[in-house]
Amino acid sequence: MKLHEQSLASLKAGLEQGDFSSRQLTQHFLERIRSLDPRLNSFITVTADAALAAADAADAARARGEAGPLCGLPLAHKDIFCTRGVRTSCGSRMLDNFTSPYDATVVARMAAAGAVMLGKTNMDEFAMGSSNETSYYGPVRNPWDQDRVPGGSSGGSAAAVAAGLAPAATGTDTGGSIRQPAALNGITGLKPTYGRVSRLGMVAFASSLDQAGPMARSAADCALLLEAMAGHDPGDSTSVDRPVDDCQTGLDRSLEGLTVGLPEEFFPQNLDPRIAEVTREAVRELEKQGARVVDISLPTMKYSVPAYYVIAPAEASSNLARFDGVRYGYRCEHPENLTDLYERSRSGGFGDEVQRRILVGTWALSHGYYDAYYLRAQRVRRLIRDDFARAFEKVDVIMGPTTPETAFPLGAKSGDPVNMYMADVFTIAVNLAGLPALSMPAGQLDGLPAGVQVIGNYFDEARILNVAHRYQQATDWHRRSPDTGGEA
Ligand code: GLN
Repeated sequence: MKLHEQSLASLKAGLEQGDFSSRQLTQHFLERIRSLDPRLNSFITVTADAALAAADAADAARARGEAGPLCGLPLAHKDIFCTRGVRTSCGSRMLDNFTSPYDATVVARMAAAGAVMLGKTNMDEFAMGSSNETSYYGPVRNPWDQDRVPGGSSGGSAAAVAAGLAPAATGTDTGGSIRQPAALNGITGLKPTYGRVSRLGMVAFASSLDQAGPMARSAADCALLLEAMAGHDPGDSTSVDRPVDDCQTGLDRSLEGLTVGLPEEFFPQNLDPRIAEVTREAVRELEKQGARVVDISLPTMKYSVPAYYVIAPAEASSNLARFDGVRYGYRCEHPENLTDLYERSRSGGFGDEVQRRILVGTWALSHGYYDAYYLRAQRVRRLIRDDFARAFEKVDVIMGPTTPETAFPLGAKSGDPVNMYMADVFTIAVNLAGLPALSMPAGQLDGLPAGVQVIGNYFDEARILNVAHRYQQATDWHRRSPDTGGEA
């Protein structure tokens, strides 16, 4: 099998056996990026020289017998993670000129485990979007059909992995941004429990929802990556001080006795029946392996999108106040006074969607509207959490479609924000509750990948990965790759 179609696990074995060096592997992916990315636009920055230097260091460490768990494995980071000495743009003109003086904890931990960073992937501006069309650096194209979106906001990471430009990547998920692009690109993506992975050095969008996680071909690869990323970070007060479960040894555990909940809210009347069938077929595979399926209900899930679009913009309006043209980032030319500096720096540095969110959020937090919108949305958030808590008294995991449809054409929703927001109708409730969830490829419609979501109880990442891994042992959706042309 070609190097770029292999799982991380098999690349790791290849490095261990000396079939190839990290330098050779890294060169292979850099060459793929060079030839294919001008079209896909999945990277904002490629760090070729640093990658080759890191690969040499990894090869030397291995020769000394000091190989960490990711030693010599190339990967890409979403451009929301701060990387020392490398531009961290967050997909925005505001940070186009920003070079971070430090590494995000995720980046530092993965480097310490031996990973080789290939570069920084494209994303929706400040992670606001579901199609990657809000990026200052232009849209990413879906490698399965280049006239379609890759999803967002981690669309660059998802497209890069699907097209074999990187064997794995990091993403962040505030309302679905790991799972939705994973589904639309036919890869596996995990959003961990809120607090499982440090947010230090991850540009903040909505701090009570943001969570980083792995995106790769398989659940087994996500398990390997999660172990390297996760864990308590004293530098992030919301990171949870609790040991990281061993996610890898339990991957093969039998599903005998597993209870899967199917919420009726994931199968609304107007859902494309083919999307529903992809989930049902995946569930049947688990039943074959001994799982039991029960119908459940999450009655307040229907309020998740409206509640999210009050809470997330409210937090964003506060977080993005720091971009004022004074401290760092974009500054307008020749400001006349302080107000002019703020106004022109912010309207020139932020794109339309970001400005829309800041306006909505500021309004929802303003005196007189705070109780009616923000506080109300917080109450709804609690009800959604309670719905899940009740469900997890009866079931081990909850399953449903990741997205209501497969990848849509570029431009199809970009003029219609509310329609775009509905792309996350099945993913957002999980963020509001803070739960972990994974999307895995489970079918194709008209040649485009469709994903199924596996949601677990708090800190039950090992269980979710086990379910997805067993599914992937019995199926081959996760092994399919888009046709990227003949070479290499
Ligand atoms: N699409 C959602 C939004 O635009 C979620 C984005 C995300 O998870 N970062 O807010």
